[in-house]
Amino acid sequence: MSGAARKGFVSLVGAGPRAPDLITVRGMERLSAAEVVLHDRLVDPALLEHAPPGAERVLVGKRPGGASWRQEDINALVCARARAGYRVVRLKCGDPGIFGRVSEEMQALEAEGISYEIVPGVTAASAAAAAVSGSLTERGACDTLVVSTGRLRDGAEDPDWAHHLRPGARLVLYMGVGRAGALQRALTARGQPAESLVTIVESASQARERVHVVALGALAAEIAARGISNPAIIMLDAANPAVAAARPVLVAAE
Ligand code: SAH
Repeated sequence: MSGAARKGFVSLVGAGPRAPDLITVRGMERLSAAEVVLHDRLVDPALLEHAPPGAERVLVGKRPGGASWRQEDINALVCARARAGYRVVRLKCGDPGIFGRVSEEMQALEAEGISYEIVPGVTAASAAAAAVSGSLTERGACDTLVVSTGRLRDGAEDPDWAHHLRPGARLVLYMGVGRAGALQRALTARGQPAESLVTIVESASQARERVHVVALGALAAEIAARGISNPAIIMLDAANPAVAAARPVLVAAE
């Protein structure tokens, strides 16, 4: 049946943290049946080989010229292909609902009455914890997990990271590498010890995965010296006198 004879449907699929075998079975099923695949830059090209050979593939991350796709243009393309009757897979790295701008795409689909589903994925924080053989929460040591970002919309103020510094809290930062100086200053100014440890996992789950453990007071300097770049996850535990003697859980691998 040609696309035009059917009603289109959009699957917003989490591709996982780039290792192509960390997509879910459901995500893989949707990909294998896709007629159109719109994917992010961080999605592994090997994964796209599972789409049918005739499926249209569009990289909606960076354009060849270097400029990024605007979110409105992505929304418009997803809607246009669905309106034309195609089974569309919008493949996003990690989980679509974590710093994935999926709400904007859902709003655009809803505004046009287009049916869609979300297929969750393995988020980068889970892959980063696995990389250091750690757990994101830890009975008796970490009962609160804070997921935050280093980068907000242009012109927005930094998030109040230090606000979350309560004993038992673990802070996991996406897109934080470029904001390490601000993070370091904000946390130390509010009493997190400069010698407390920060774990950084670069390219979690990929062949070039690297784990770094550095002191908070040297975070920005170490990121520069070691050439640490995105994609990376930054993790740290709020200073906790009750478990001060314990070995930090998320540095087990180094
Ligand atoms: N939706 C994604 C996050 C998108 S924001 C998810 O759930 O994982 C992009 C940021 O995610 C990157 O800047 C980086 O901080 C993080 N990230 C994505 N893939 C990663 C990986 N394999 N290793 C470490 N960080 C990753």
